[in-house]
Amino acid sequence: MPRAPILADAHMHTSRCGHAVGEAREYALASIAAGLAEITFTDHQPFLRGRDPGLTMAAEELPRYVEEVLALKDELAGKIRIKLGLEADYLPELVPETRAALSTVPWDLVLGGVHFIGAWGFDDPRQLEEWESRDVSDVYRAYFADLRAAAKTGLFDVMPHPDLVKKFGHRPSYVLQEEYSKTAQVFAETKVAVEVNTAGLRKPIAEIYPHIEFLRALKRFEVPVSVGADSHDPKDVGRDFELARELLKRAGYTHTVVYEKRKISDELPLR
Ligand SMILES: [Zn+2]
Ligand SMILES: [Zn+2]
Repeated sequence: MPRAPILADAHMHTSRCGHAVGEAREYALASIAAGLAEITFTDHQPFLRGRDPGLTMAAEELPRYVEEVLALKDELAGKIRIKLGLEADYLPELVPETRAALSTVPWDLVLGGVHFIGAWGFDDPRQLEEWESRDVSDVYRAYFADLRAAAKTGLFDVMPHPDLVKKFGHRPSYVLQEEYSKTAQVFAETKVAVEVNTAGLRKPIAEIYPHIEFLRALKRFEVPVSVGADSHDPKDVGRDFELARELLKRAGYTHTVVYEKRKISDELPLR
Protein backbone atom coordinates (compact mmCIF):
# COMPACT_ATOMS: atom_id res chain seq x y z
CA MET A 1 0.00 0.00 0.00
CA PRO A 2 1.39 3.48 -0.80
CA ARG A 3 2.09 5.65 2.22
CA ALA A 4 0.47 9.08 1.98
CA PRO A 5 2.85 12.03 2.54
CA ILE A 6 0.53 13.25 5.30
CA LEU A 7 -1.40 10.52 7.06
CA ALA A 8 -4.69 12.22 7.88
CA ASP A 9 -7.20 13.87 5.53
CA ALA A 10 -9.65 15.86 7.62
CA HIS A 11 -11.98 17.33 5.02
CA MET A 12 -14.17 15.35 2.62
CA HIS A 13 -17.74 15.39 1.38
CA THR A 14 -20.18 12.85 -0.04
CA SER A 15 -22.88 12.92 -2.71
CA ARG A 16 -25.40 13.89 -0.02
CA CYS A 17 -24.44 17.56 -0.46
CA GLY A 18 -25.70 17.64 -4.06
CA HIS A 19 -22.43 18.90 -5.60
CA ALA A 20 -20.14 15.93 -4.91
CA VAL A 21 -20.02 12.42 -6.35
CA GLY A 22 -19.50 9.14 -4.50
CA GLU A 23 -20.79 7.63 -1.29
CA ALA A 24 -18.97 7.64 2.03
CA ARG A 25 -17.82 4.05 1.50
CA GLU A 26 -16.11 4.98 -1.78
CA TYR A 27 -14.21 7.81 -0.07
CA ALA A 28 -13.12 5.47 2.72
CA LEU A 29 -11.93 2.77 0.32
CA ALA A 30 -10.09 5.32 -1.84
CA SER A 31 -8.43 6.65 1.33
CA ILE A 32 -7.22 3.19 2.31
CA ALA A 33 -5.85 2.72 -1.22
CA ALA A 34 -4.09 6.11 -0.96
CA GLY A 35 -2.31 4.99 2.23
CA LEU A 36 -4.10 7.36 4.59
CA ALA A 37 -4.21 6.26 8.22
CA GLU A 38 -7.11 8.48 9.20
CA ILE A 39 -9.95 10.42 7.57
CA THR A 40 -12.66 12.75 8.81
CA PHE A 41 -15.93 13.07 6.94
CA THR A 42 -17.01 16.71 6.97
CA ASP A 43 -20.09 16.91 4.83
CA HIS A 44 -21.87 20.28 4.61
CA GLN A 45 -24.24 21.08 7.46
CA PRO A 46 -27.91 21.23 6.42
CA PHE A 47 -29.13 24.82 6.10
CA LEU A 48 -30.89 26.08 9.20
CA ARG A 49 -33.22 28.17 7.07
CA GLY A 50 -34.40 27.32 3.58
CA ARG A 51 -32.90 24.63 1.43
CA ASP A 52 -30.50 24.50 -1.54
CA PRO A 53 -30.19 20.88 -2.72
CA GLY A 54 -27.06 21.92 -4.66
CA LEU A 55 -25.24 22.98 -1.47
CA THR A 56 -26.24 20.73 1.44
CA MET A 57 -28.25 17.68 2.45
CA ALA A 58 -31.73 18.18 3.91
CA ALA A 59 -31.96 18.37 7.70
CA GLU A 60 -33.90 15.07 7.77
CA GLU A 61 -30.94 13.36 6.14
CA LEU A 62 -28.41 14.26 8.83
CA PRO A 63 -29.13 11.24 11.09
CA ARG A 64 -28.52 8.91 8.13
CA TYR A 65 -25.19 10.64 7.41
CA VAL A 66 -24.13 10.15 11.02
CA GLU A 67 -25.23 6.49 11.06
CA GLU A 68 -23.46 5.79 7.80
CA VAL A 69 -20.13 7.25 8.94
CA LEU A 70 -20.29 5.49 12.33
CA ALA A 71 -21.11 2.15 10.66
CA LEU A 72 -18.16 2.56 8.27
CA LYS A 73 -15.93 3.48 11.21
CA ASP A 74 -16.71 0.13 12.87
CA GLU A 75 -16.56 -1.91 9.71
CA LEU A 76 -13.18 -0.56 8.57
CA ALA A 77 -11.63 -0.17 12.04
CA GLY A 78 -8.67 -2.46 11.28
CA LYS A 79 -7.85 -0.61 8.07
CA ILE A 80 -8.33 3.10 8.72
CA ARG A 81 -9.45 5.42 11.53
CA ILE A 82 -12.65 7.21 10.59
CA LYS A 83 -13.86 10.34 12.35
CA LEU A 84 -17.26 11.99 12.25
CA GLY A 85 -17.18 15.66 11.33
CA LEU A 86 -19.21 18.41 9.75
CA GLU A 87 -18.47 21.54 7.75
CA ALA A 88 -20.72 24.16 9.29
CA ASP A 89 -21.27 27.65 7.92
CA TYR A 90 -20.58 30.86 9.75
CA LEU A 91 -23.69 33.00 9.39
CA PRO A 92 -23.58 35.94 11.81
CA GLU A 93 -27.37 36.15 12.11
CA LEU A 94 -27.71 32.44 12.97
CA VAL A 95 -25.06 31.93 15.65
CA PRO A 96 -27.43 30.72 18.42
CA GLU A 97 -29.27 28.43 15.98
CA THR A 98 -25.97 27.05 14.72
CA ARG A 99 -24.82 26.40 18.29
CA ALA A 100 -28.04 24.53 19.08
CA ALA A 101 -27.87 22.48 15.87
CA LEU A 102 -24.23 21.49 16.44
CA SER A 103 -24.96 20.28 19.98
CA THR A 104 -27.22 17.41 18.87
CA VAL A 105 -24.46 15.10 17.56
CA PRO A 106 -21.15 14.04 19.21
CA TRP A 107 -18.93 15.36 16.42
CA ASP A 108 -15.20 14.68 16.36
CA LEU A 109 -14.57 17.85 14.38
CA VAL A 110 -16.56 20.90 13.30
CA LEU A 111 -15.13 23.03 10.50
CA GLY A 112 -16.22 26.67 10.40
CA GLY A 113 -16.58 27.55 6.75
CA VAL A 114 -16.97 31.18 5.72
CA HIS A 115 -18.73 30.82 2.36
CA PHE A 116 -21.09 33.80 2.52
CA ILE A 117 -20.65 37.55 2.74
CA GLY A 118 -24.12 38.68 3.68
CA ALA A 119 -26.39 36.57 1.49
CA TRP A 120 -23.81 36.23 -1.28
CA GLY A 121 -22.17 32.85 -1.68
CA PHE A 122 -18.93 34.37 -2.99
CA ASP A 123 -17.29 30.98 -3.71
CA ASP A 124 -20.34 29.49 -5.45
CA PRO A 125 -19.70 29.20 -9.20
CA ARG A 126 -23.41 29.94 -9.75
CA GLN A 127 -22.91 33.36 -8.12
CA LEU A 128 -19.65 34.24 -9.81
CA GLU A 129 -21.16 37.17 -11.69
CA GLU A 130 -21.75 39.08 -8.46
CA TRP A 131 -17.98 39.68 -8.27
CA GLU A 132 -18.36 42.07 -11.25
CA SER A 133 -20.44 44.51 -9.23
CA ARG A 134 -18.22 44.40 -6.12
CA ASP A 135 -15.03 46.14 -5.12
CA VAL A 136 -12.55 43.28 -4.72
CA SER A 137 -10.67 44.92 -1.83
CA ASP A 138 -13.94 45.50 0.03
CA VAL A 139 -14.82 41.85 -0.45
CA TYR A 140 -11.46 40.81 1.00
CA ARG A 141 -11.88 43.14 3.99
CA ALA A 142 -15.37 41.78 4.69
CA TYR A 143 -14.16 38.21 4.28
CA PHE A 144 -11.28 38.51 6.75
CA ALA A 145 -13.47 40.37 9.25
CA ASP A 146 -16.01 37.53 9.03
CA LEU A 147 -13.28 34.95 9.45
CA ARG A 148 -12.14 36.57 12.70
CA ALA A 149 -15.73 36.94 13.89
CA ALA A 150 -16.37 33.27 13.09
CA ALA A 151 -13.41 32.18 15.25
CA LYS A 152 -14.65 34.37 18.09
CA THR A 153 -18.04 32.59 18.23
CA GLY A 154 -16.36 29.51 19.73
CA LEU A 155 -18.56 27.38 17.48
CA PHE A 156 -15.77 25.85 15.45
CA ASP A 157 -12.64 23.75 15.95
CA VAL A 158 -10.85 24.38 12.66
CA MET A 159 -11.13 27.17 10.11
CA PRO A 160 -11.01 25.44 6.71
CA HIS A 161 -9.57 26.95 3.50
CA PRO A 162 -8.77 30.18 5.40
CA ASP A 163 -8.31 32.39 2.35
CA LEU A 164 -11.13 30.94 0.25
CA VAL A 165 -11.92 34.45 -0.98
CA LYS A 166 -9.08 34.07 -3.51
CA LYS A 167 -10.72 31.02 -5.14
CA PHE A 168 -11.55 32.55 -8.53
CA GLY A 169 -8.32 34.54 -8.74
CA HIS A 170 -9.60 37.99 -7.70
CA ARG A 171 -6.78 40.00 -6.12
CA PRO A 172 -7.23 42.95 -3.77
CA SER A 173 -5.37 46.20 -4.35
CA TYR A 174 -4.05 46.32 -0.77
CA VAL A 175 -1.31 44.25 0.85
CA LEU A 176 -2.76 41.39 2.92
CA GLN A 177 0.03 41.03 5.47
CA GLU A 178 -1.85 42.89 8.18
CA GLU A 179 -5.04 40.86 7.63
CA TYR A 180 -2.93 37.72 7.94
CA SER A 181 -1.31 38.82 11.22
CA LYS A 182 -4.53 40.13 12.77
CA THR A 183 -6.39 36.98 11.82
CA ALA A 184 -3.63 34.67 13.06
CA GLN A 185 -3.63 36.51 16.38
CA VAL A 186 -7.41 36.08 16.76
CA PHE A 187 -7.12 32.38 15.87
CA ALA A 188 -4.47 31.94 18.55
CA GLU A 189 -6.54 33.80 21.15
CA THR A 190 -9.71 31.87 20.35
CA LYS A 191 -7.82 28.54 20.17
CA VAL A 192 -9.02 27.45 16.75
CA ALA A 193 -6.80 25.58 14.34
CA VAL A 194 -6.46 26.23 10.64
CA GLU A 195 -6.71 23.89 7.71
CA VAL A 196 -4.19 23.61 4.92
CA ASN A 197 -6.51 22.73 2.06
CA THR A 198 -5.25 21.46 -1.29
CA ALA A 199 -8.52 22.01 -3.19
CA GLY A 200 -7.38 25.50 -4.19
CA LEU A 201 -4.90 23.87 -6.56
CA ARG A 202 -7.89 22.57 -8.53
CA LYS A 203 -9.59 26.00 -8.69
CA PRO A 204 -8.82 29.04 -10.92
CA ILE A 205 -6.41 30.46 -8.30
CA ALA A 206 -4.35 27.22 -8.54
CA GLU A 207 -2.89 27.69 -5.04
CA ILE A 208 -3.20 25.85 -1.76
CA TYR A 209 -5.28 27.62 0.93
CA PRO A 210 -3.79 29.46 2.79
CA HIS A 211 -1.10 31.51 1.05
CA ILE A 212 2.43 30.84 2.36
CA GLU A 213 2.59 34.32 3.97
CA PHE A 214 -0.67 33.63 5.85
CA LEU A 215 0.71 30.26 6.94
CA ARG A 216 3.91 31.93 8.19
CA ALA A 217 1.81 34.38 10.22
CA LEU A 218 -0.17 31.47 11.66
CA LYS A 219 3.08 29.75 12.62
CA ARG A 220 4.32 32.90 14.37
CA PHE A 221 1.23 32.71 16.59
CA GLU A 222 1.59 28.91 16.96
CA VAL A 223 -1.85 28.20 15.48
CA PRO A 224 -2.17 24.41 14.99
CA VAL A 225 -2.89 23.07 11.49
CA SER A 226 -4.83 20.16 10.07
CA VAL A 227 -4.79 19.10 6.43
CA GLY A 228 -7.62 18.33 4.03
CA ALA A 229 -8.11 17.76 0.32
CA ASP A 230 -11.75 18.91 0.52
CA SER A 231 -12.69 16.05 -1.81
CA HIS A 232 -15.96 16.16 -3.64
CA ASP A 233 -14.91 13.03 -5.58
CA PRO A 234 -13.32 9.90 -4.07
CA LYS A 235 -10.39 10.17 -6.48
CA ASP A 236 -9.29 13.39 -4.73
CA VAL A 237 -8.71 12.08 -1.19
CA GLY A 238 -5.20 12.88 0.00
CA ARG A 239 -4.57 14.69 -3.27
CA ASP A 240 -1.48 16.93 -3.51
CA PHE A 241 -0.49 16.21 0.09
CA GLU A 242 3.18 16.22 -0.89
CA LEU A 243 2.71 19.90 -1.86
CA ALA A 244 0.90 20.58 1.42
CA ARG A 245 3.78 19.02 3.34
CA GLU A 246 6.30 21.13 1.46
CA LEU A 247 4.33 24.34 2.12
CA LEU A 248 3.97 23.51 5.82
CA LYS A 249 7.69 22.88 6.15
CA ARG A 250 8.53 26.12 4.37
CA ALA A 251 6.33 27.96 6.87
CA GLY A 252 8.18 26.29 9.76
CA TYR A 253 5.60 23.72 10.82
CA THR A 254 6.83 20.35 12.11
CA HIS A 255 3.47 18.77 13.06
CA THR A 256 -0.14 18.64 11.98
CA VAL A 257 -3.01 17.86 14.35
CA VAL A 258 -6.09 15.65 14.29
CA TYR A 259 -9.28 15.91 16.30
CA GLU A 260 -11.47 13.55 18.26
CA LYS A 261 -14.57 14.59 20.22
CA ARG A 262 -13.73 18.19 19.30
CA LYS A 263 -10.30 18.18 20.96
CA ILE A 264 -6.84 17.79 19.46
CA SER A 265 -6.23 14.08 19.96
CA ASP A 266 -2.89 13.61 18.25
CA GLU A 267 0.03 15.39 16.64
CA LEU A 268 1.45 13.87 13.48
CA PRO A 269 5.07 14.73 12.67
CA LEU A 270 5.75 15.95 9.14
CA ARG A 271 8.22 13.49 7.75
ZN1 LIG B 1 -18.77 21.43 -1.06
ZN1 LIG C 1 -15.85 24.84 2.44
